[in-house]
Amino acid sequence: MIDHRRLGRELELFLSDPLVGAGLPIWLPAGAAARHAVEEYVRELERQAGYQHVYSPALGRREMYVRSGHLEFFADDMFPPMSLGGDEVMLRPSLCPHHALVFAARGRSWRELPLRVAELGGMYRAERSGVLGGLSRVRAISLNDAHTFCAVEQVGEEVEAVLGLIREAHAALGVRPAGYRLSLRGPGRQYVGDEAGWALAEKLLRAALAGLDYAEAPGEAAFYGPKIDIQIRDAAGRESTISTLQLDFDKPERFDLSYTGPDGARRRPVMVHRSLVGSMERLFAYLIEVHEGAFPAWYAPVHLRVLPVDDGQSGAAADLVRRAVIGGLRAEVDRGGSLGARIRDAARRKTPYVAVVGPREAARGEVSLRLRGGRALDPVPVAEALALIGRVVDTRAASLLPAG
Ligand SMILES: [Zn+2]
Repeated sequence: MIDHRRLGRELELFLSDPLVGAGLPIWLPAGAAARHAVEEYVRELERQAGYQHVYSPALGRREMYVRSGHLEFFADDMFPPMSLGGDEVMLRPSLCPHHALVFAARGRSWRELPLRVAELGGMYRAERSGVLGGLSRVRAISLNDAHTFCAVEQVGEEVEAVLGLIREAHAALGVRPAGYRLSLRGPGRQYVGDEAGWALAEKLLRAALAGLDYAEAPGEAAFYGPKIDIQIRDAAGRESTISTLQLDFDKPERFDLSYTGPDGARRRPVMVHRSLVGSMERLFAYLIEVHEGAFPAWYAPVHLRVLPVDDGQSGAAADLVRRAVIGGLRAEVDRGGSLGARIRDAARRKTPYVAVVGPREAARGEVSLRLRGGRALDPVPVAEALALIGRVVDTRAASLLPAG
């Protein structure tokens, strides 16, 4: 069976080492390159959709988590406080409090809303060691997160826009969702906030889901509000949440957030928590399995592997790699062992493009591309080959040849 832990080891994407500890994976260069490409894409998608990016620390004073309600309702999932010079600081279990403070940094006007604060930020959850495995459940989480502060009347449109962005990101990455879920309150759990807020939030989310096929999940709401969750299924059939959107009337109260309305009166914003693609860890656990390690070219760790037939083409191969790298591609030369062994190694690494440079190609300034899967293209000038790969990467095409 396909298992991202085995593929992650074979493709040298990430490392789990007992000396670091369970649930604390290290991203190796190949995994980091793929993740970096995905992060850049998501950041650009968000920037174009009007999000403003911030950086905030993974630590906060205990006092902040008293204020946010996390210590009362979420402490079991948090690491214990660390004492520091008479104060106590905690590893954050979410980015919401820091982002609430971004909104509160100065007076806000209704003209600024919806105000969208985004960050790919580190956070920590005290997951039990029994549930940890590879990248799918970790204790150190890098979350694609954002919080939109808006007026109640803007919630419907904002939720629509978020669902649209989620669909766009899923299509680009090759995520095939297993379904939508409306996560509601359930018995036996504690929730903050008043009845009216919960009822309104639920009504708004139901309206956004109208016309979509979704399942209700009582007991799966966040402690501060109901959620729309978008589910995925891993190779073993286990379901988990990849994308989420939550409405929160509680944190704006707790952090006393306000903006000035058109009439000059102070008003309370609504907080929309959302993640387009979830954490980088869970996302990649899924992507590794769904693509069986053969990522779409645009986030493949190496786009192009260059194989000189013998030492006579070392210079031409190095030159090709240099031109590819300057042109924005990730390229490497592989000159060890027989040509056949190097072609097999590139296939094992699932590299999308291999360029074989023999004496003839070197003399003519040409290159013969081989596509992942084995198809060999006719020799073309180097510039043409690099342009082809560049077009596929820039358009984030699912296929290895440009459309048309
Ligand atoms: Zn949040």
